[in-house]
Amino acid sequence: MPGRVQDKVAIVTGAASGIGAATARLLAREGAQVVLTDLNTAEGEAVAASIRAAGAEALFLEHDAADEAAWERVIAATLTRFGRLDVLVNNAGIAGSGSPPDEQSLEDWRRLMAVNLDGVFLGTKHAIRAMKRNQPKPCGSIVNISSILGLVGGTRSGAYTASKGGVRLYTKSAALACTREGIGIRVNSVHPGYIRTPLVEASFAQRGDPEDVLRKTEALHPIGHLGEPEDIAYGILYLASDEAKFVTGAELVIDGGYTAQ
Ligand code: NAP
Repeated sequence: MPGRVQDKVAIVTGAASGIGAATARLLAREGAQVVLTDLNTAEGEAVAASIRAAGAEALFLEHDAADEAAWERVIAATLTRFGRLDVLVNNAGIAGSGSPPDEQSLEDWRRLMAVNLDGVFLGTKHAIRAMKRNQPKPCGSIVNISSILGLVGGTRSGAYTASKGGVRLYTKSAALACTREGIGIRVNSVHPGYIRTPLVEASFAQRGDPEDVLRKTEALHPIGHLGEPEDIAYGILYLASDEAKFVTGAELVIDGGYTAQ
């Protein structure tokens, strides 16, 4: 039986770890040829190798998502190897220092914006250019990973929420621009609640006793626990697939009820 994204060519950024690694694995299992990118070469190569060992096609490329020249190289390498681009998952992201506003350094703010927001803009820009070349007509799906903290504020995460709120509205504008041009490129955002990944574990460690922070964070999710990377990967798979052909400019919230309260 064909997979849900059979023969599509997908780029997943930040694919060495957490949500990105789970997404790359799931897209490959559902028939996609996957380009994994990350700053973390050792882990990224290892995830790509495990996908190839399972019988799918995967290529790892070292990539700083905040660097436009690096994006041009990633898109060119993808087109050279696989001939087209159908799906981009703009997943690479950082949590930053979590400082309150009066202690936030401009340097930390700017790095967070560079990775979380510039990275999404640059990926969207260069993916649309590549997807416009698809035959018989321009088409593709871009999935931008925002957060519940792109929907509501957080006491310790002003820079992060600003970047993720930016991702949410940039996504809608890019989606509308594509519809106005009459091209079949869809752009959507995904808003995870707290998911057990190295990013979240590092931020718990910054905030005191990690077990205590975990219990308090679990209590914020009406479902009673944190999510797993695969919970988000399944939402991304849907948006990447043709099952979502009428879905653009949407925000898919996967948060165990966090923002329903
Ligand atoms: P993760 O486990 O830390 O994975 C993120 C990956 O992105 C890491 O391999 C990281 O490499 C890489 N990366 C960082 N900066 C990069 C850059 N400039 N260019 C390319 N790759 C870069 O994080 P995650 O929890 O899976 O998060 C993935 C996305 O989901 C992020 O956008 C995050 O904001 C979002 N999100 C996560 C949660 C959550 O609870 N986990 C909730 C809402 C939204 P290094 O390890 O070398 O930094």
